[in-house]
Amino acid sequence: MSAGVSTTFDDKHSEASTLTNPTLVLNCGSSSIKYALISEDEGTRITGLAENLGLDTARIKHTTLNGEKLEIAIAGGRHELALQKILELLEQYHFIAVGHRVVHGGREYSEAVRVDAHVLAEVKRLKVLAPLHNPANALGIEAVQAIYPDIPQVVVFDTAFHQTMPPVAFRYPLPKALYSEHKIRRYGFHGTSHAYVSERASHITSATGPHGWLTAHLGNGCSATAVYDGKSLDTSMGLTPLEGLMMGTRSGDVDPSLHIHLKRQLGMSLEEIDKMLNSESGLLGISGLSNDLRTIEQAANEGHEDAKLAIEMFCYRVGKYLASLSCALPDFTGIVFTGGIGENSVTTRTRILEVMRHFGIKVDADKNAGLVGGNEGSFHADDSSIELWVVPTDEECRIAQETRAALGLK
Ligand code: AMP
Repeated sequence: MSAGVSTTFDDKHSEASTLTNPTLVLNCGSSSIKYALISEDEGTRITGLAENLGLDTARIKHTTLNGEKLEIAIAGGRHELALQKILELLEQYHFIAVGHRVVHGGREYSEAVRVDAHVLAEVKRLKVLAPLHNPANALGIEAVQAIYPDIPQVVVFDTAFHQTMPPVAFRYPLPKALYSEHKIRRYGFHGTSHAYVSERASHITSATGPHGWLTAHLGNGCSATAVYDGKSLDTSMGLTPLEGLMMGTRSGDVDPSLHIHLKRQLGMSLEEIDKMLNSESGLLGISGLSNDLRTIEQAANEGHEDAKLAIEMFCYRVGKYLASLSCALPDFTGIVFTGGIGENSVTTRTRILEVMRHFGIKVDADKNAGLVGGNEGSFHADDSSIELWVVPTDEECRIAQETRAALGLK
């Protein structure tokens, strides 16, 4: 370990005793692995991140139970090596189950399932729909299987929460065979986040249910969902996580004829267009500066015109989407903001709500200003037509809960 932090056996033993029956949550991305070890009562956790996988700068940033930060260099290390090191770091805590975030579950999965040979094969097969994510997710499952063949593993799909959408919301207006034979439909993503924050909002509101929420997950990836009585009825992402809102580097909705136009006019290949829409667009594309809203907000305050436009477009598109998604709700209780932007940017929340100016929404500016840095709370004025909430998302906690439930554990 490059951090040079030494821990005695006794320290480890007393640490381990506070993490009762923990579940390991793994979120394996294309070049990173996020992990969290969460106690049965959800009150204690160890977290970490392996990043820059495959590069010379590959490393694991690990935070111990005591809040100590370790950094372990694994130059050139890929997923397998990172997972091996992560499992070594966590082995002493005797986790009883592993829950994996898996991006695409296709049509088959509406809830978390225990991993078996069929499930693993499905995760791999669905690479066609999530080429960057599902292969990394499968690697995570196999790495744990190789080292701990007896520990039960569960997959929690990002798409599962949206399986309650009705056909009117999940079908595209395309020839039927594309759906019936090729499964071309809208799936939706960020399901664990939308599920977690809508459930939490229903728990903390004093409004009587059933509740109708619009949940706005605004981070580097952005999506919005209409949730009624705990069920997703419509969402902004579709077949892939590119549809819908403008994001950090993703365009969101564009004219479907853009591909053919760019191919004909600029000779761009489909791969080039795909990369442009996923990695060079959104806040980054418009501002020309960054995909990080903090950088763009600062530049806008200094008078940068493209930064100002990026923020205006982002807020306009979120507000417009929320307004249209409200049509899916039988009853509109309120809007729940989450994700790095939703949880922290007071001005972005205000501007989005200004876009929805015909809805009778009234903001309590002081309460709004206080909701930053992981605070949870409401910020609607007493005479607002609907409630407004900030609920910090906790996808790891939700995955741990679903993992325990799928295994019939407490
Ligand atoms: P996430 O993907 O949920 O971690 O969100 C990441 C994004 O949240 C970053 O790219 C920033 O744009 C945004 N963000 C985080 N903190 C702040 C903040 N204090 N103010 C504005 N935006 C923020």
